[in-house]
Amino acid sequence: MLDIKLKLQPGHTNDREWMEPSPLKTLFWNITYACNYRCGVCFTDAGSAMPGELTTPEALAAVEKIHQAGVHDLILSGGEPFQREDIIPILRHMGKFGISTRIASNGSLLDQEILRQLRDETLVQSFQISLDTIDADIYERFHSASPGDLNTVLKNLDIIQQLGFHTTISARLTPHTLAGIPALLDFAVQQGIATLTIHCPVHTRRVSETYPQDEDMFTRLEHVFEHFSNLPQKWLIETYIPWAEYHPVIRRLQKQVRINNRGCRAGRDRLTINPSGHISPCVCMDIPEAYVGNVKSDDLELVFQNSPVNKMFRSPREHGICADCANLTKCGGGCRASAFALTGRMDGQDMSCPVWKSRDQKEHRQS
Ligand code: SF4
Ligand code: SF4
Repeated sequence: MLDIKLKLQPGHTNDREWMEPSPLKTLFWNITYACNYRCGVCFTDAGSAMPGELTTPEALAAVEKIHQAGVHDLILSGGEPFQREDIIPILRHMGKFGISTRIASNGSLLDQEILRQLRDETLVQSFQISLDTIDADIYERFHSASPGDLNTVLKNLDIIQQLGFHTTISARLTPHTLAGIPALLDFAVQQGIATLTIHCPVHTRRVSETYPQDEDMFTRLEHVFEHFSNLPQKWLIETYIPWAEYHPVIRRLQKQVRINNRGCRAGRDRLTINPSGHISPCVCMDIPEAYVGNVKSDDLELVFQNSPVNKMFRSPREHGICADCANLTKCGGGCRASAFALTGRMDGQDMSCPVWKSRDQKEHRQS
């Protein structure tokens, strides 16, 4: 994901050099395309369940494969995971194998009973609730939600916190949500929520009503970063955008607040499983061009080590990606999902990168 995490509470972070070789550590699992909402931006284009989604026995078998691959950290999303009737048995099965889970959900289908079961019978550790805004009108329009849904979600957010789950909220960056992000941050402070994650949409699936892929998101977000820097509760900004440290806004911000640039982990220490079992390096690349195997038939560790697409994510130089940029060994050649959205090629140029943009402009001026 092209994520920026505004962290309000000291806690887990990692200063490990993200380009270093790593074993497979983390899996994203988008467990269904079904969703009771239809957000204008959705990295899986969710709506209805699709034919071919993993059955309950196939999902339970996938859990065992995940365990065999030595993965104990799983991020579960959808669609909306709680649209699957078998979600609690699947999460119990993960618990049996010691797999702890972070859940990304819209929060509207939860209730006290479900959350209590999750706390008592599974290894679910945390929730990320995609609020996007706390303005009820914008919430309804952006999510295609019904009146009253925002109140239900806010009530569930309270229960999640009362039951002791690590609690974070998220917002997708669009022209509809941008102005309300400072208010969302204030809400997070008031509620004692640990992190507000901002997702910059990638144009590989549904992205109606958003900015172009090569929009300068950091400049758009500058007022949000200022707001964060002025909060007494600010702790850390974590970015997951490979070239973030070369952007002038981030360079300036480094003087005001601690920033940890964690880069792109896709294919380096993580993989994604889609609702039909297809495996891809990046959660934003649920597209046939990026499928490297299927959990129904393939060994996750072998796919992780050997697939040519994963190798390309890890060794961009060998594929001529950003070959003439001095930052390549620190940046890894930008975001492959953004490059694909902009060029139609997995090994294309990430033209949203500020270093590339300024070189391109210079070349145009000289010619
Ligand atoms: S390729 Fe990497 S940086 Fe780009 S969206 Fe995927 S995980 Fe994020
Ligand atoms: S030109 Fe490529 S390697 Fe250089 S900073 Fe940009 S994305 Fe990274």
